[in-house]
Amino acid sequence: MNAERVKTDVLVIGGGAAGCAAALEAKARGARPLMVVKGRMGRSGATPLASCLGAPAPMPGPYPLLRLMKRIYSAASGVVPLPVPAAYADAMRQMLDFHYWLVDQDYFLDWAMWTAKRFYPELERSGIYVLRDEEGVPDSPPDGSYHVIHTHGMTGYQYGESKRKEVLAAGIEVLEEASAFALLGGESGEVSGAMVLDYARGRLLAVEAKATVLATGHTNWLSRRATGTREMAANGLAMAARAGAALSNLEIQWFHASDMAEPESWMRLHSYPNPLNGTAHRAVMSNEADEVFMNIEDFDTVMPYTIQMKKLREQVRQGKARWDGGSYTDYRRVEPEALEKYQYHFEFYEKLGRDMARDRFESAVTWHMSAGGVRADPRTMETGVARLYIAGAVGSHMLGGLPLAAYDGHLAGAGAARSARRMGSPPGCDDEVRAQEGRLAELLSAPAGDGNAPSPIAVKRRIREVVWRDMMYEKSAAGLDRALGSLAALREEALPAMQVRSRARRYNVDLVDALDVEDMLDVCEMAAHASRSREESRGPHFRTEFPFTDNENWIRQVVVRREGGQVRVRHEPVRLKYLRPKAEKVDYFAEPFA
Ligand SMILES: Cc1cc2nc3c(=O)[nH]c(=O)nc-3n(C[C@H](O)[C@H](O)[C@H](O)COP(=O)(O)OP(=O)(O)OC[C@H]3O[C@@H](n4cnc5c(N)ncnc54)[C@H](O)[C@@H]3O)c2cc1C
Repeated sequence: MNAERVKTDVLVIGGGAAGCAAALEAKARGARPLMVVKGRMGRSGATPLASCLGAPAPMPGPYPLLRLMKRIYSAASGVVPLPVPAAYADAMRQMLDFHYWLVDQDYFLDWAMWTAKRFYPELERSGIYVLRDEEGVPDSPPDGSYHVIHTHGMTGYQYGESKRKEVLAAGIEVLEEASAFALLGGESGEVSGAMVLDYARGRLLAVEAKATVLATGHTNWLSRRATGTREMAANGLAMAARAGAALSNLEIQWFHASDMAEPESWMRLHSYPNPLNGTAHRAVMSNEADEVFMNIEDFDTVMPYTIQMKKLREQVRQGKARWDGGSYTDYRRVEPEALEKYQYHFEFYEKLGRDMARDRFESAVTWHMSAGGVRADPRTMETGVARLYIAGAVGSHMLGGLPLAAYDGHLAGAGAARSARRMGSPPGCDDEVRAQEGRLAELLSAPAGDGNAPSPIAVKRRIREVVWRDMMYEKSAAGLDRALGSLAALREEALPAMQVRSRARRYNVDLVDALDVEDMLDVCEMAAHASRSREESRGPHFRTEFPFTDNENWIRQVVVRREGGQVRVRHEPVRLKYLRPKAEKVDYFAEPFA
């Protein structure tokens, strides 16, 4: 398969909230972006799945003035520690708790200002409105924690559709159903574009770009039970690592305890445990014997996910529930009219022949968002590999969230446009293009097997089983070593034996899967090493041998790199610039928020 050569200023890989924002920003700054999207732009990845949007902190004053004040405050805090203004201290502490104190604190202040002053006003200017009451006040849960567009559960879908229209209206070139599978130029120390399998049209492309933005999102599809869709196979993390970028926080993986146990394809629509619109009540969780083991509203948090996992583990240990079923989410305490009016899920349950207000729903655990990803300067989204930027959930500087992804896209798009202008054309990489052409030819030319050779999707399933068995919430050295052994065996045995079953050029999803397999192996392996290396429990990272959170020694990032096919791990302290955790060392199960 010979690659067609394509040139652009800024290559944006990914078409979620982050990718769309990056392309729009680059275009607004005079660059010519090309978007390459594995699924459909605005309609794939996590973006359409988002239920709601975190409400902005009230920030009086114009944005430029706030930014200036923040810059002065940040610089002064670098010399003498200054208190965080009382109005923001609680919100910031909560944000840092959700991010386990492993992220840059300035990033959150900058993002919060941008969200209040730019994200929400632009959202409504573009024609999508957060739900409001007759007085024009956003119709949020009673604690005001978030806003919804239309109804709870529809927010991401509508946001994605609006961004899709904006990108198309801006005349940005978009290749949908085209998967980037290798960054070019990595060996030269700078990225000069990417190889793209345009599987919808059956073409191979070598895209030469002056700057590249990776915006490929979370890694949700890595485990058997997951909140993700198939394009979330961790390609971005794997490509960046092979190009020499460092990754961090890969061990901090979020899980949902209350996803629907069945049908499997409905897992993304999890039984929402967070605050609900129109009511002060929330869901409860119960076991097979209908004993309530967690009343979610007893915990003062908008994100109860890790507390749910801790409570569920007790039930699993006592044999009263399983990780893949036997626990139930129950909304029977919530006023039925609040569910029907505000919850889009209501209709889904109805279609399953169930009543959200009366039935309880069997739940199971899923692999959800990854806090970890590619390291970048959170002020610019530069990765440290020249010409390579990241944006959104592919990064390690935050957990996720539509406004965060959009903010990153705005930074990365601006940086990439600047870089394209200043740096001019990238170095050629003919040898790499030829090597990738050869790789595809090899995958497509394997002899038709005797029926025993594993198909790419079968190997992917085996990887997902390894993750489900040994890399979910309850992690131990023995389990992680077993995972590493299983992944190595798949790499040595299944990978060479794997056969692409179709020679078709167009929509050859077997070929897309075959390219994903190697990426999934790489990323799962790095995540297992990172998990092995963190010898404490922190948020959703629970190590059975270390049931404590050690803020004295472990406010450190686990940083991984791939060097010569090996995974190298190091630890890097995180600077606690404004706030620090309250306790030095805590019992992980005794403290719900540890
Ligand atoms: C189930 C679920 C519920 C969530 N709920 C909320 C919520 O209520 N509120 C909230 O704020 N956030 C929520 N989030 C998080 C939020 O949706 C994400 O953090 C955010 O959408 C990430 O945006 P992104 O653009 O970085 O990635 P994504 O939206 O995942 O986009 C990734 C894009 O990359 C493309 N892609 C992937 N690989 C390749 C490749 N190799 N080549 C080309 N393209 C590629 C995909 O097709 C997709 O277009 C939720 C996430 C999930 C999974």
